[in-house]
Amino acid sequence: MRDLTAAEDNLLNGSICPFCYEQQFLEGPHGLGSVNIMCAGCDAKFCYHQGLFVAQLIDEPDVHKAARVLCQKAARYEAGLE
Ligand SMILES: [Zn+2]
Repeated sequence: MRDLTAAEDNLLNGSICPFCYEQQFLEGPHGLGSVNIMCAGCDAKFCYHQGLFVAQLIDEPDVHKAARVLCQKAARYEAGLE
């Protein structure tokens, strides 16, 4: 487990996965002011804190899934769909 970098944390605060830019997350267990979320695109797991604290990375992304999501997004972008 590690703290996200400032750049990664900024993306996550905007509901964007810092690894694959997916915007859908699955919500897991809630704790005291924090919630575990998993990226629907690359399975990276985060502990997201409300308030001042930087989110933490619990589980590394699946790089193959992240690459697939990024490729799909690039294809949609090139086709003018996004
Ligand atoms: Zn992701």
